[in-house]
Amino acid sequence: MNDKTLQDAIVIASYGIQCRIETADKSLLRAKSLKSAGKTLCGDRVKYKTEQNNEIVITEILPRTTILSRLNNLNPKPKQIASNIDQMIIVISVTSSIKFGLIDRYLIAAAFSGFNPVIVINKIDTIEPQALDAVKQAMQIYADIELPLFYMSAINNIGIDSFLSVTENKTNIVVGQSGVGKSSIVNAILPSMPAITKEISESNNKGKHTTTTAYLYDIPNNGKLIDSPGIREFGLWNIEKNDLAKGFTEIQHTGEQCKFRDCSHHNEPGCAVVAAVKAGNISQKRYDSYLSIFESLDT
Ligand code: GDP
Ligand code: ZN
Repeated sequence: MNDKTLQDAIVIASYGIQCRIETADKSLLRAKSLKSAGKTLCGDRVKYKTEQNNEIVITEILPRTTILSRLNNLNPKPKQIASNIDQMIIVISVTSSIKFGLIDRYLIAAAFSGFNPVIVINKIDTIEPQALDAVKQAMQIYADIELPLFYMSAINNIGIDSFLSVTENKTNIVVGQSGVGKSSIVNAILPSMPAITKEISESNNKGKHTTTTAYLYDIPNNGKLIDSPGIREFGLWNIEKNDLAKGFTEIQHTGEQCKFRDCSHHNEPGCAVVAAVKAGNISQKRYDSYLSIFESLDT
């Protein structure tokens, strides 16, 4: 499309046909998609024009690089929540023992959604240096598979600079269990309450925070954050047993050497993964996690 009247914007909140966009000069506008463009998602890059009556109309949604979907127990079709997310920040806290299985589930979700995973270990101010060393040692299995790990204290501003550099120029989501410090991290990187937040609490009517509606915020490092309480609890969606290895980069990679192409890495002859676990080249913990998640999948 070469129409000179068309301009670029990004959808910061979508209500289906209606949405809020942020224009190149950072103005927030109400807009409406044309039928031919379809419903927008938060994070969509769009083309828009201003009609004579000053209505803002979205004429085209540019191709999405990734889509964040969420499974609803009552509806087998995943609901699309947001688009063009580059990175998933998985937050854990040192105040309880590390839940490796949970981290692995987030990593699977990231792999299947096409998001780059980053792990943040928060609340390091609450433990002694020796205990922190033990945590670092335990987390080495993730460093070994080249996952970026960040140690933080959101309330003491420790590690915020590294966090800002890893989120720079990227569209990020923050996930993790309740209480690990996700809101505190978000507050630390979004110093002033963005204008959209007020609208959210009004439009969510009655100040309920259970909505899955996603909102896109600008981080002051040219990065973006897509957030909503629904997203933060985002979990694993339905994948098939046969595909599970794609969520474990090292198992997937080593699995290419297995004798059988459809090897499930249990006890098949010539399984390179089992051999790598025995040789200590794949972490036993990660392998056990693979087996346990494999068992939990239906098909
Ligand atoms: P969320 O449920 O993951 O969004 O967690 P919150 O951000 O609401 O934090 C839960 C509790 O942990 C709050 O009482 C925070 O003040 C506290 N908290 C968050 N980050 C830190 C941290 O780095 N250190 C300490 N000591 N407390 C923290
Ligand atoms: Zn195998």
